[in-house]
Amino acid sequence: RVAALGQPQQEVVRPPGRVPLGLKRKGLRVVVTGGAGFVGSHLVDRLLARGDSVIVVDNLFTGRKENVLHHGGNPRFEMIRHDVVEPILLEVDQIYHLACPASPVHYKHNPVKTIKTNVVGTLNMLGLAKRVGARFLLTSTSEVYGDPLQHPQAETYWGNVNPIGVRSCYDEGKRTAETLTMDYHRGANLEVRIARIFNTYGPRMCIDDGRVVSNFVAQALRKEPLTVYGDGKQTRSFQYVSDLVEGLMKLMEGEHVGPFNLGNPGEFTMLELAKVVQDTIDPNARIEFRPNTADDPHKRKPDISRAKELLGWEPKISLKKGLPLMVQDFRDRIFGDQKDAAA
Ligand code: NAD
Ligand code: UDP
Ligand code: UDP
Repeated sequence: RVAALGQPQQEVVRPPGRVPLGLKRKGLRVVVTGGAGFVGSHLVDRLLARGDSVIVVDNLFTGRKENVLHHGGNPRFEMIRHDVVEPILLEVDQIYHLACPASPVHYKHNPVKTIKTNVVGTLNMLGLAKRVGARFLLTSTSEVYGDPLQHPQAETYWGNVNPIGVRSCYDEGKRTAETLTMDYHRGANLEVRIARIFNTYGPRMCIDDGRVVSNFVAQALRKEPLTVYGDGKQTRSFQYVSDLVEGLMKLMEGEHVGPFNLGNPGEFTMLELAKVVQDTIDPNARIEFRPNTADDPHKRKPDISRAKELLGWEPKISLKKGLPLMVQDFRDRIFGDQKDAAA
């Protein structure tokens, strides 16, 4: 085809309804599944702030209305109480798919539901993305590496996962979600992105979700002993939530499918984490050892070379800087709740 000015023009073939990607657009229509949860609600804040219209799809299993309540009067914000295991019809440009319980205590609570959320829920969101030609981002997890035999973990590592253990509903569920995502990409030409998120903390984490950062911070504030599981020498790498949200948005807007590790390479033993919490909240907080849970990964640390090179992303906030940023939020919710109960 020849354009009016005589310049040859490339034919752009897109499924009907698809918004031209790569163009500078204002006001995208974005779905955030799990948007009433910890990570999702921070992502929603950022998307609304840059002018997008956001639909949160959440069944409020582990999420809270309070996390998004401050957007109640915003005409560009909408929340639908919906379980992603059931199909849904929406017209959107981008889908950030976060819906899934993330803490071991929550995902082990009803393992079959966790698998269904990861498999059927992801299938439904991919079907939706295919129908409307939306770009789809899956929030996978460092748990796909299982108890890793490679350290630090690069995206090329295929993992060491127990398929029949108590964590498998989550690990294997997310691995299947990644498979589905790639099969829709290859088979239906869907634009997809995959993030493998490493342990993330910050304000709005569930206080009693059993994760180590929320446990230690809540315990220190309540003057209870910090519960260290096992010998406390297992390691994790902790990322502050704003760094993660930045990474997710860069990934969505960029040109690369991934998977990309999004995490902070600063690695800590659980005893070292306990020390940071003591230094931040209460130097007199005692430590109490408890038996560890089954299949607990011994170490975990992301290799983020790929994200640095291809997304131009790396975390900015160290654990020592980030931890104090969640303390006031926890204090307000823990002691606010007690005041409410006393009233
Ligand atoms: P979260 O539990 O705070 O948020 C998950 C949200 O999904 C909640 O609002 C919950 O109500 C919702 N949800 C759960 N099942 C649903 C269903 N069937 N239908 C609709 N909504 C449902 O957890 P988070 O830490 O914010 O995690 C968000 C995503 O990031 C999850 O997919 C998780 O696997 C992934 N991730 C998180 C971390 C982390 O450290 N926070 C690490 C790795 C991966
Ligand atoms: N789906 C959905 N919303 C849509 C389109 C599809 O929830 O807008 C669901 C649909 O119900 C199905 C899944 O996504 O269970 C996969 O859809 P797809 O069209 O890829 O597969 P098919 O329906 O042919 O099995
Ligand atoms: N852990 C701990 N004390 C707690 C909760 C967890 O020592 O009160 C340990 C747990 O055994 C694991 C690590 O902290 O080795 C991280 O656990 P978390 O549940 O936060 O996340 P995971 O990385 O295991 O999904």
